[in-house]
Amino acid sequence: MTKNNKNRDLKTANDYAEGILHGDRIVLGRAITLAESRRIEHQALVREILEQCLPCTGNSLRIGITGSPGVGKSSFIETFGSYLTQEQGRRLAVLAIDPTSQVSRGSILGDKTRMSQLSTDPRAFIRPSPAGDSLGGVAARTREAMLLCEAAGFDTILIETVGVGQSETTVHGMVDFFLLLLLPGAGDELQGIKRGIVEMADLLAINKADGDRIELAKAARKEYAGALHLFPPKPSGWPAKTVTCSALTGRGIPEIWQLVLDFQQITKESGWFVNNRKDQAKQWLHELIAQLLKAQFYENEAVRAQLPEMEDAVVENKLPIAKAADRLIDLFKKSGQAAI
Ligand code: GDP
Repeated sequence: MTKNNKNRDLKTANDYAEGILHGDRIVLGRAITLAESRRIEHQALVREILEQCLPCTGNSLRIGITGSPGVGKSSFIETFGSYLTQEQGRRLAVLAIDPTSQVSRGSILGDKTRMSQLSTDPRAFIRPSPAGDSLGGVAARTREAMLLCEAAGFDTILIETVGVGQSETTVHGMVDFFLLLLLPGAGDELQGIKRGIVEMADLLAINKADGDRIELAKAARKEYAGALHLFPPKPSGWPAKTVTCSALTGRGIPEIWQLVLDFQQITKESGWFVNNRKDQAKQWLHELIAQLLKAQFYENEAVRAQLPEMEDAVVENKLPIAKAADRLIDLFKKSGQAAI
């Protein structure tokens, strides 16, 4: 990338889209920064950019990766990612959703220092989790980043999240394949993994299967394989698989990639892959409408003026909650135009 390019003055959506579609990583990074910005003019610009890039999105394989802190997510992404770029010729974008980093700017997830090899890999692009005041907002920005990365020619997207809360469901709603990393020798409750997360996973990988933990990992795998039989079949028709692996030694990494490819082939043949993407897009539309409406409602001046009074009335039992909500929504509707 020349210095000239770096300082290039990007003004229009067209400038951005052109750079992205030519695979210019600096322009891509700047477009993602725009997507993360709260400024209305940035939001408007990024929507234009997305519209122009849209025909070139959707051509990647989207993989979600989750697991408790310390399970080895970033080590796994480093090893798996390097295998993909160096041995499979893939172009990889690593994104993250970390709802715990809502206050601080950015997060440690997807941090370049945790993936030293990938961060200097010309075939990889790493972007830490955006900061935000809600999981929905953080997720919306990551989803836009994913589309921009696809337009820039990345054919494999990894989205990392911590396996401790609601964020897995959100990530599950934007990926094709969901991988859960587990530790050998500890039950899922001990690992802070909820049953619902195990149920969502297409593949359970027991990481750290190296040294004297190999046998332990094999036993854990057997146990999980048995437990998976008790879950109802998935709509994808793909029964969840279990493997052992080591991010440290690379053991099991090619097998995991092969399973991802098998999944892709089977679900593409059955039509589920495409249908799932369509369902996800529809769900996303509804989620975004809810988010935008909510934001407009709370930014509306008439609502803001009346809200404390309504809150008091509800607290003091002077007004039923439903009635207070109705009044505020009426105010919002009557005030006609919204703040966004
Ligand atoms: P994260 O919090 O899930 O991202 O986990 P990290 O990737 O930061 O790993 C946590 C610790 O586990 C680090 O000390 C890693 O070196 C170690 N670790 C990760 N993967 C493996 C593995 O496959 N085998 C062994 N022995 N250690 C690992």
